[in-house]
Amino acid sequence: MVDTHALTIDVEHWYDATLAARPPRVDPSHAERELDSILALLERHGAHATFFVLGSLAEDLPQCVRRIAAAGHEVACHGLTHELLWQLGPARLRAEAGRARALLQDLSGQEVAGFRAPTWSLDRRTPWAPATLLALGFSYDASVFPLRTPLYGAPGAPTSPYLLAGGGGSILELPPAVLEMGPLRLPVAGGIYWRVLPAGIVSLALRGQSPRVLYAHPWEAAPAGWSLPRSTGLSARFAMRFGRGHLAKVLDRLLATVRLVSIAEAYENLVRDELRTWSLDAAAITDGS
Ligand SMILES: [Zn+2]
Repeated sequence: MVDTHALTIDVEHWYDATLAARPPRVDPSHAERELDSILALLERHGAHATFFVLGSLAEDLPQCVRRIAAAGHEVACHGLTHELLWQLGPARLRAEAGRARALLQDLSGQEVAGFRAPTWSLDRRTPWAPATLLALGFSYDASVFPLRTPLYGAPGAPTSPYLLAGGGGSILELPPAVLEMGPLRLPVAGGIYWRVLPAGIVSLALRGQSPRVLYAHPWEAAPAGWSLPRSTGLSARFAMRFGRGHLAKVLDRLLATVRLVSIAEAYENLVRDELRTWSLDAAAITDGS
């Protein structure tokens, strides 16, 4: 039987990414061309995905959200401005994610169930986040990166679906895929990791696994020849360009060998009562009952 995994696409301007550091001035319509490119790729393969859309991009380019929904994909929320959660705090997250979710629901005609924090910025610095997301009406989160990196991460967090507790609430958490080798965890879920890892490692890590969460950005998968404006700094230029062709190859290989679906479809039979709980307050695991 063919393995099934959840593909997620973070829809933002490439200069919104933390890696860009200092955004240059650029025509924002590039995001529409990059989105069209990945929508066409998924259509060719009959694949579906969950698109975590940044609210500010939906305000600038509302047609992008309509196009994602019309193609049968799940629309979810990537916050409003790409500011990190521990910088936002609970009151601004409530205001901004609430505004973004309402807009995305309006444009897509879907109930927006999922949230992904910009740059995986939901971790022990934001123990209030699960309760805040629940109060906003989200039913799942896909933001906790279960290993430490220089920019983000929650080492020790579970690597398969669980209930993330904090602030007096618990929300379904769907973590990005990692390859576990004894005590070591290797990130294999997408993005920068797909730009540096051999495609075979990614395939091997996913083979025979229950559905895992994968991710990419439309600008990473856009065709070669796409150019950066002159005002882009050297480090941002490197971060944005490095390995992009390789990521497209990894994605092509997965599209040809596994079934890629939205989060809603991949996890529709998940039984919440059977999941363990991991708390941001105490970082403790308890078994589901
Ligand atoms: Zn992002």
